[in-house]
Amino acid sequence: MKVLFVTSEAFPLLKTGGLGDVAGALPAALNALGENARILMPAYPQALEMARDKRPGVALGMPLGVGEVRLIEAKMPDGKTPVWLVDCPNVCRRDGNPYTQQDGRDWPDNYLRFALLSHVAAQLAMPGNPTGWVPDIVHCNDWQSGLAPAYLHFWPGSRAKTVFTIHNLQYLGMFPPWVMEQIDLPGEAYGMDGVEFHGQVSFLKAGIFYGDAITAVSPTYAHEIMSPALGNGLDGLLRHRGHAVHGILNGIDDEVWNPATDPLIEHPYSTADMSGKASNKVALQRELGLPEAPDAPLFCVVSRLTWQKGIDLIADGAERLERLGVQIAVLGTGEQHLHDMLRSLAETHPNIAVRIGYDETLAHRMVAGSDVLLMPSRFEPCGLTQMYAMRYGTLPLVYRTGGLADTVTDCADIHAGTGFVFDKLDADTLIHGAERAVALYHSPDSWQKARVNAMTRDWSWAHAAKDYVKLYQGLLKAGA
Ligand code: ADP
Repeated sequence: MKVLFVTSEAFPLLKTGGLGDVAGALPAALNALGENARILMPAYPQALEMARDKRPGVALGMPLGVGEVRLIEAKMPDGKTPVWLVDCPNVCRRDGNPYTQQDGRDWPDNYLRFALLSHVAAQLAMPGNPTGWVPDIVHCNDWQSGLAPAYLHFWPGSRAKTVFTIHNLQYLGMFPPWVMEQIDLPGEAYGMDGVEFHGQVSFLKAGIFYGDAITAVSPTYAHEIMSPALGNGLDGLLRHRGHAVHGILNGIDDEVWNPATDPLIEHPYSTADMSGKASNKVALQRELGLPEAPDAPLFCVVSRLTWQKGIDLIADGAERLERLGVQIAVLGTGEQHLHDMLRSLAETHPNIAVRIGYDETLAHRMVAGSDVLLMPSRFEPCGLTQMYAMRYGTLPLVYRTGGLADTVTDCADIHAGTGFVFDKLDADTLIHGAERAVALYHSPDSWQKARVNAMTRDWSWAHAAKDYVKLYQGLLKAGA
């Protein structure tokens, strides 16, 4: 099957979070199963620089009137997975975060930038498009490509089926109604049965409303988003489309994240010999200016610093974690008030180290050198960091929600436990979980058993890729 994987980011060309990881790995995993998948993403400067074997590709005219658009044909840095970079210098050639300006505000023309991505995706799904490659499946991801299923709904002639994957329902892709005049959708699309949402245009709703199938990135999240608590106002529509909604758990790239071969960590290790992990811990404590205490349980946080991630709960519990003898290392970037709060905690607590910023290499060293990953997300569509952590024998301490619930087995199960799961979202319950983690940490045989459980679970993409193939096949069969 020919699959066009439409995304606003793909590791390693550009990544701000989990979507980047998924887009960097899933198309490759589909191809490994014998399918024919290509990535379609904007030609950001970083992406143009890193992509291999670039060829000028074809001219696509001036869709949406934003300027000349070219499709640059290239390969991902692995030299294998094909990628098409949508090049429209007026809207794509911007450094830094793809969604926001330097001051953290959204680019004012985001509606056009990502409508263009969707528009090109839909154009490519039309028979006779100038590339000669017509996908059977257009697989869209989050609001940035949510309009593609809408275009294909209104343009007759395409036989492609659309899949819309929700990586995070919190980001609605909302824009004022006047954008309808510029995004090339018919007026009739602006209504309750269409892209309108609370008097605005929601690109995310477009994907959910018009997609032939909708997936969420874990079975529990697929269930949760159909309830008012986590449905973000779209639970009614999701329930209405329930027969088309599926939960498919993400995998991880187990080559990029492999403690035995990871070039980004100083001391590789495996279940057969964990001594490298202890050396990584000392190196990390030294690097972060924490006391070099091999026996102090080291908890880390590697995360976007947003309300979703429950960072404030960690701050509320910091004093009590200190009394438990826990060291805390935080790497993250996000909301200014959380930066300020974490920095001031680090200034007053010698057991807390904070690095504000985005640093892929340090992320690997943090995950490799820590004992516990702290991830008290209020909601978590899938979460990849806890899977990376488990693969590195760093046991996650998580709230029971979404993909965290689907991936972490509590150590109350002495045979299969891989981490610590708590059921109530407050600092007291988090601390109780931390106490259980510290108790197990001081019981070396049980700790090692849990680490081996975690490190030997199979988190590879092969499973998810097979599930997507089944879903694609089902859609094509139904539409034939
Ligand atoms: P989300 O997509 O909500 O941000 P995930 O856990 O699914 O959360 O994915 C986050 C990804 O981003 C992981 O690969 C994680 O290692 C990475 N990450 C998050 N913050 C940082 C950071 N400050 N520096 C480096 N990597 C980070």
